[in-house]
Amino acid sequence: MKIIQIECTLLETPLPAPLRPAWAPGRVFTHSSCTLLQVHTDEGITGIGAGPEVGMLGIHTISELLAPYILGMDPFMVERIAPYIRTAARDGSYPWALDMALWDIIGKTTGQPVYRLWGGYQNRIPVYASMAEVTEASEQIARLQQLRDHGFKAFKLRLRRPDIRDDIRLVEQVRAALGDEIDLMVDGNQAHVMPSPQPSGYWTYEQALTVARAMEQLNVLWLEEPLPRYNYKQLARLADAVDIPIAGGELNIGLHEYKLLIDMDCYDIIQADAAFSEGISQLRKVASMAELAYKKFIPHTWSNGIGLGANLHLAASLPNCPWFEFPVDPPAWTIESRDFMLTQPFDIDEDGSITVSDIPGLGLRIDADAITRYSKEHWQSDRLAV
Ligand SMILES: [Mg+2]
Repeated sequence: MKIIQIECTLLETPLPAPLRPAWAPGRVFTHSSCTLLQVHTDEGITGIGAGPEVGMLGIHTISELLAPYILGMDPFMVERIAPYIRTAARDGSYPWALDMALWDIIGKTTGQPVYRLWGGYQNRIPVYASMAEVTEASEQIARLQQLRDHGFKAFKLRLRRPDIRDDIRLVEQVRAALGDEIDLMVDGNQAHVMPSPQPSGYWTYEQALTVARAMEQLNVLWLEEPLPRYNYKQLARLADAVDIPIAGGELNIGLHEYKLLIDMDCYDIIQADAAFSEGISQLRKVASMAELAYKKFIPHTWSNGIGLGANLHLAASLPNCPWFEFPVDPPAWTIESRDFMLTQPFDIDEDGSITVSDIPGLGLRIDADAITRYSKEHWQSDRLAV
């Protein structure tokens, strides 16, 4: 089998309401977007992958840094292709979608869903609704009640208020309003923010410790990204000082960076994302390192429906992944706006779990009309002769 053509398309669709995510303080997003990758083979099978939208940098990464070297290669030779993806990440941005597309091809060719090819562990995973915005308590509680009515039983809240006492009070108010039967996680988003009007300002170790102890009292399941990404020693000290699990790693890159995080016990839960770091199959190595250290691996999934679908196969193949992140924060970030490129958006089951499809490959049904309608930029390589 041979890769004979690669297509890269920037997709963008308006959001139903403006989104002000905690990870881009002061910034307002009006669109849902993604960088769609389609990899065609000489046997007529096409693999799908996607990364976050990074404008023309996304196309440059595929067209100049990857395609010239990948065209003509056998898509089953994933480990041989991996170094090309890694080097493209250095000079470009988010090439990991290619690893998704390769496994989509392998699954479609062999007639198996990807998680089963890897030796599956579970086909249903409990979900937590992953919120985006830092809101007033009354608004936060109203949104949680709406999501609970939809069937969600667990929720991740954003803590990034100027004063940590207000973050703690918010969680207290949510607990008081919704009781102990819901599961709660919290994310400090202190490891990294996107380019934004307020790109700096992080908790000190002492502030992180105060928040962690308060969350422990409120029976919160984990505290995510309490300190800057490369503050390894204080992360390890914090994880050792408290009983609440400390989570993170969503934007680390490099197998050895994850090895360091695991070896140093910076995090109890590793949250690498197949769209942001290393790719779907390389992250299985990270998940195995975590498993050997008796840590959880619960992938970050905040990109788009394709990224979510790829991470779902990764999660379903792991014995150390007890939760699945489900990004949703209406009115801005709805299931439909997140999965606008799919004919069938991902949703949860009645019991608050997500079921992995047994459709071969990554099981993604691409909406061809939506791709045409929302295409902002498109590039395709020449087609190799079969
Ligand atoms: Mg996070």
